[in-house]
Amino acid sequence: MSRRPLIAGNWKMNCNRAEGATLARELFRGLPTPLGTADVALFPPFTCLGRVVEVVSESEITVGAQNLYPADSGAFTGEISPLQLLDVGATRVLVGHSERRHLLGEDDAFVNRKLLAALSHDIEPLLCVGETLEEREGGLTSAVVERQIRGGLGGVAETRAQDVTIAYEPVWAIGTGLTASPSQAAEVHAWIREVLLSLWGESAAKVRILYGGSAKPDNARELLATEGIDGLLVGGASLQARSFLQIFAAAAG
Ligand code: PEP
Repeated sequence: MSRRPLIAGNWKMNCNRAEGATLARELFRGLPTPLGTADVALFPPFTCLGRVVEVVSESEITVGAQNLYPADSGAFTGEISPLQLLDVGATRVLVGHSERRHLLGEDDAFVNRKLLAALSHDIEPLLCVGETLEEREGGLTSAVVERQIRGGLGGVAETRAQDVTIAYEPVWAIGTGLTASPSQAAEVHAWIREVLLSLWGESAAKVRILYGGSAKPDNARELLATEGIDGLLVGGASLQARSFLQIFAAAAG
């Protein structure tokens, strides 16, 4: 099955509303209409989600949040619910990003609750998985990634496979300038596909598996040509319209 590539931008904790609107406008103007052979998703911070949704509303660009809390409402100070995300027009959400796993202590069980909450509101989760350098050097990459996939996807029926996207993001490659080599990425992507196959059978083929970790215009083409890579989750290089557009062009061209 051929899967349409997805180029996703994780803006992390960057951009005020004006900067977010400007970046979204530059992307809207710079991307083709219709998008053509690749999809685009933007993940701005909560504070500019609504502005970004407005700016790209006439396009096929999709907008997601970087987090959600797995409850509809209530006494969860500082958190944002799936209903609040839908209210501002977000249709996707990141779950299990390594910065949340490692800086904020989120475990697989919590990631799974978020993912199930997103799906129950028809918000498409993008589940991030990946090993630390220590885990890679200890030969634990496959085990860690499998645990994160099985833990994160617990209780998800195979009928929802097409609503889930996975991003393989080796922690040692995020924001470091280091990138997994094509063979390192291909090996883990193939393993993730096997784990999905054991969970969901044939439906596993519907799931896009992105690569993330210092993806940039220089390496996008090579990464996207790598067996098993269905798109890129881009952090740093998504903050400049020029570099994000060059990455999109590598996927679409
Ligand atoms: C990310 O935050 O998901 C990411 C891949 O960041 P960077 O591209 O900056 O490594």
